[in-house]
Amino acid sequence: MILIVTFVIVVSFKQKSFEEKREILLNQLYINIEEAKLEGKYECCIEPPCTMCYLGNWVWEDGTCDCDKMMKEDKFDKVCPQCIKGLEEGRCKSTDKEICKI
Ligand SMILES: [Zn+2]
Repeated sequence: MILIVTFVIVVSFKQKSFEEKREILLNQLYINIEEAKLEGKYECCIEPPCTMCYLGNWVWEDGTCDCDKMMKEDKFDKVCPQCIKGLEEGRCKSTDKEICKI
């Protein structure tokens, strides 16, 4: 039974477009990030949050983000490129509202 269910899920997933597949993955990723936020492990400075820190593609431990803290300490060299890009696009969501005005 489990095998059949898994098969059905895999087959229906394969029939989806790239955009649909990406959305499913991102939704799950953002759910995980929200969980990490609630646990106080994910202090991101943009909204929607960066994903590269969660995936462990930046200097932090996998599943954590300290970009907001680094930004508040003026250590922009430690803020991940995805957050920097988000800030440039005006997606700042820092807990320090003054920083977002810069
Ligand atoms: Zn980040």
